[in-house]
Amino acid sequence: MAEPTVFERIVAREIPAEIVLETDTIIAFVDIAPKAPMHVLVVPKTARYRDVVELAAGDPALLAEMVQAAQAIARERAAGDFRLVFNTGELAGQTVFHAHAHVLAGSLGEDSLA
Ligand code: 5GP
Repeated sequence: MAEPTVFERIVAREIPAEIVLETDTIIAFVDIAPKAPMHVLVVPKTARYRDVVELAAGDPALLAEMVQAAQAIARERAAGDFRLVFNTGELAGQTVFHAHAHVLAGSLGEDSLA
């Protein structure tokens, strides 16, 4: 069996995290190395999907649930507007191969993407 991803270990409470939202299917927690005043990761609990492309093909309803969670988190923890980032593949900066969305908010310029 493959090693559990760091996100599976957070779901299992083996690694501590500042959890901001949890449902039966997803968990959201503050990124350990924030790139914006608000930087939360929204993660499906299942490790079945390596990235957003697999997730969109395999379970589009779960992806939609993640987008709704991102909006709820941005409303609660920031002014409501947010940026959703899915790094997909190593060359795009993906380091954890367990699908996840970066929810960024606060002080985001039009000319920055990170
Ligand atoms: P990726 O680079 O794969 O798109 O995003 C992985 C993200 O997970 C990074 O932004 C990184 O800071 C975050 N991360 C990695 N390990 C941990 C951890 O143990 N706890 C938390 N809260 N975030 C983590």
